[in-house]
Amino acid sequence: MAQDPPTYRRLIARRAATFDAAADAWPLVQVHPTQRCNFACRHCCSRSGPRATDRLPVDVLEAGIVDAASLGYRGVVVSGGEPLLYRPLVHLLIAARSVGMTTAVVTNGTMLSSERLDELRPVVDVLAISIDGTPASHDALRGTGAHAAMCRHLPTLAVSGVPFGFVTTLTSSTSSPSSKSLDLESVVALAGDVGARFVQVQPLVPDGRARELQMHAPGTAELVAAHAEVLRLDAAAGALDVALDAASRRQVLDHPLFGDAPARARAHDLDPDLELTALAPVLVVDAHGTVRPVAHDLPDRLALGSMLDAPLTELRARRRRSGGSGLLAAARAARASLAAPDGPVLVDWPRAVAARAGTAVPVAIGRGAGRRGDDRV
Ligand code: SF4
Repeated sequence: MAQDPPTYRRLIARRAATFDAAADAWPLVQVHPTQRCNFACRHCCSRSGPRATDRLPVDVLEAGIVDAASLGYRGVVVSGGEPLLYRPLVHLLIAARSVGMTTAVVTNGTMLSSERLDELRPVVDVLAISIDGTPASHDALRGTGAHAAMCRHLPTLAVSGVPFGFVTTLTSSTSSPSSKSLDLESVVALAGDVGARFVQVQPLVPDGRARELQMHAPGTAELVAAHAEVLRLDAAAGALDVALDAASRRQVLDHPLFGDAPARARAHDLDPDLELTALAPVLVVDAHGTVRPVAHDLPDRLALGSMLDAPLTELRARRRRSGGSGLLAAARAARASLAAPDGPVLVDWPRAVAARAGTAVPVAIGRGAGRRGDDRV
């Protein structure tokens, strides 16, 4: 099993929990610059499709990326919609590189011509290709022929010199455990065949069109089963890095920001300006400019606001002045649910926070508890 997760694995861990902040591209900004896509997948968390026209002006995004770098964010993941349909994609990646950020693009892989790869090679650190199991499973979510359309470009990608890997969505689905295993095995086998560097297994985000698949979001049992399967496949995969995007109970319980008040107070004392990146090491920008900490499906009331209304630094300053969003309260409520001795051993942390965001009451903790700004993200 790979012992030292490389940068790109963390970089494309778009819903990864708020842990392991040591990787080079971490914390990161996940950008969805457009909802336009040549597919309309059933499990699309951004409701993207061929008819969607929403897209963010590149100058707004470039300014947002510069601001994010000033706040301590070190990586940018461009997702979609299909990012290769966003014309200024290369400009966006150049802007990220110019402020020292690591760059990744998550694509459905069906438009990876050698010309596009030549454009991307100088400005992208890693490409992540979305693939959802066997050809039958992939096409069931994405449409007939989608798997073949993606595979057609893999030989070109393999010789392009652009580092790449696969991301695959984990659902509970109606499939049997054996077919689920077959899906993961199929993705890992293909990854090995074409020279991919990683396979990242990501739990379904039940947002956008995927809300209709909410009942298929993996629960603890599916996470645990997937974890075992991922460990088995990773051990057999040699240099290929296979990982599941989930947090262990111990990681959550030991995290200083969610635990006792003195630890949080110490975090303030050390560097208050790192607070946003500490509590929200993933910042999601959707195609309407809305900035959400942690996850795409966090409710609007936890959003920082829209980049179309104000620069990111101003959105963050407003949030601090207004006394916080309740994000910390939601995180602490999610943590509390794991604290029982028989609590789940693995958790999809962003989903756990999002699930509590609707009911959590902001709390005042730390030194000077009760003053405004105790939950200032
Ligand atoms: S999941 Fe990806 S490929 Fe499918 S519609 Fe959404 S953005 Fe497009």
